[in-house]
Amino acid sequence: MDIKTIKTKKSRLDEVDFDNLGFGDLFSDHMFIMDYENGEWKDPRIVPFENLSVSPAMMTLHYAQTIFEGLKAYYTKDKKICVFRPSAHASRMVVSAKRLCIPKVEPEMFLKALTELLKLDRGWVPKKRENSLYIRPFIFATDEYLGVSVSNTYKFMIITSPVSLYYKEGLNPVSLITSGKYVRACQGGTGHIKAGGNYAASLYPAKEAKKKGFTQVLWLDGKEHKYVEEVGTMNMMFLFDDELVTPPLGGTILAGITRDSVLTLAKEWGIKVNERRVTIDEIMNRADDGTLLEAFGTGTAAIIAPVGKITHNDRTVVIKDGKTGDLSHRLYEELSAMRHGEKEDKYEWCAML
Ligand SMILES: *Cc1c(COP(=O)(O)O)cnc(C)c1O
Repeated sequence: MDIKTIKTKKSRLDEVDFDNLGFGDLFSDHMFIMDYENGEWKDPRIVPFENLSVSPAMMTLHYAQTIFEGLKAYYTKDKKICVFRPSAHASRMVVSAKRLCIPKVEPEMFLKALTELLKLDRGWVPKKRENSLYIRPFIFATDEYLGVSVSNTYKFMIITSPVSLYYKEGLNPVSLITSGKYVRACQGGTGHIKAGGNYAASLYPAKEAKKKGFTQVLWLDGKEHKYVEEVGTMNMMFLFDDELVTPPLGGTILAGITRDSVLTLAKEWGIKVNERRVTIDEIMNRADDGTLLEAFGTGTAAIIAPVGKITHNDRTVVIKDGKTGDLSHRLYEELSAMRHGEKEDKYEWCAML
């Protein structure tokens, strides 16, 4: 399918202050859009970034039949653009679509749309090393109908946003509090996919955590409230002596692509990697006896977010004296170097444009 392109008459690029970027509040000149109707995706097009006109009865607004992805593009030292692992994101979107009865977008089409959009808006990829272009593909139901049912029509869109750091802490450690009585995901639910509704449900607990001075909620399992799961936008990793532990993908945790990249690098570096269930009590006890050397979250938005403090019930532990650990630092640097074309891309994670 050919993509029709309508270019903006006036680029907003000149108005951007690339030295003071935030996260996700500024959008590039163009967006990709295509429609699903009568059983097929059609009319793929790139148009100027603009508002949509939708019916107040549009099903997504009521029942959240919507999914998304999040990936990044980086400016390399050879003045090219590295899109990090786009095929993995395209495949994950197929998995998300299936669970919500959303028609899949073929990875080939996803990649073509992304490539053409980025070629047109390549000037929007920030050049400063800690910045990047955040890419947001999403699909949502568009039927005008108030019954709860599977929509017959959808839109697939891609918008992009030049961004700086996700957490104001940067690579400085964040603080977490366990989820208490709240639950993010349970077996058989939608915790393993990027479904819009998952995030709506996490806002209230996150707001309570912020009020108490924590950066984020550390989600425990929905059944026993005992096992560590993830952080809601990041997967969790713990370095116990020489063993790197992360909870297994069992249907309630998102299969993070950064998680996979980190596990791959750690194995390459000869670190013992163990995907196993880990209780919050083990974390707290190991922090006390000194065998929890580092804890960090992994995700596209923050890449590596060191965790300096965890509070569970009335107990608080400080990890690595609240400083960034060596492994967190090394992983962050290695991933950065790969993405900026400063190191050999031996796993072919960069799609170069
Ligand atoms: C997106 C996301 C992650 C991180 O996944 P990446 O592919 O590494 O960006 C982790 N957990 C949840 C719930 C997410 O939505």
